[in-house]
Amino acid sequence: MLTSEAFILRKSEYSEADYIVSAFTRDFGKIRGLAKNAKKSRKRFGGRLEPFVHLRIRFSQKPGGMKFIEDAEMIRVFSNMMEDIELFAWGNFVLENVDITLPEEEPNNNIFELLIHTLSSLSKDKHLPSKILNFQLSLLSYSGYKPNFDNCAGCGKPVDEGVFSIAKGGVLCSECRGDKPNGFLLSKNSLSSIGSNEMNAERAFDFIRMLYRFTEYHTGKEIKSSKFIEEMMR
Ligand SMILES: [Zn+2]
Repeated sequence: MLTSEAFILRKSEYSEADYIVSAFTRDFGKIRGLAKNAKKSRKRFGGRLEPFVHLRIRFSQKPGGMKFIEDAEMIRVFSNMMEDIELFAWGNFVLENVDITLPEEEPNNNIFELLIHTLSSLSKDKHLPSKILNFQLSLLSYSGYKPNFDNCAGCGKPVDEGVFSIAKGGVLCSECRGDKPNGFLLSKNSLSSIGSNEMNAERAFDFIRMLYRFTEYHTGKEIKSSKFIEEMMR
């Protein structure tokens, strides 16, 4: 039997009593497993297979790789995520970002710590957008998708100001961007304010949008919670 701290990233019904869960474990990375009788067993699961719960799970692995989640013990509940719909939406956004950037079964302690830190620090204060932004930047860096803000993604020259290209994965200098003037303009100034608490909420959200689209593009996966967040930020 294997044991690890974990967060539930996704859960779907497998049968009347069972769930298939995708869990981010500290020691084994992202795993998928069957939680048999999870809907009914109070002793083994007790409704703890939920997002925003820091768990300790035990699971077994059958030859062929199939995993069975045996039980889950609660370490901490991030009840702040359930306080209101806005935090709940951002919390889901955070989990979804982690889910799509993580490969299967590769432990990543930096991202595990980042997730705990982010969920515990999110609250309805004016720094919420910059906390999300810092989360995105750290996640992209820890998962190997870090955008290049320092050098032109076309020619490699250092850039003070440029247009961000999602497809190229970084900032383009004035020559490389050619006749495509549209795009998200970044300057050394705006870059140094990324994620700082002084950044105004609207500007921070423009950055958040740029980074979640960047994440979607480079992972090839959609962040579904962004739709609700876009509605909310209008
Ligand atoms: Zn260039």
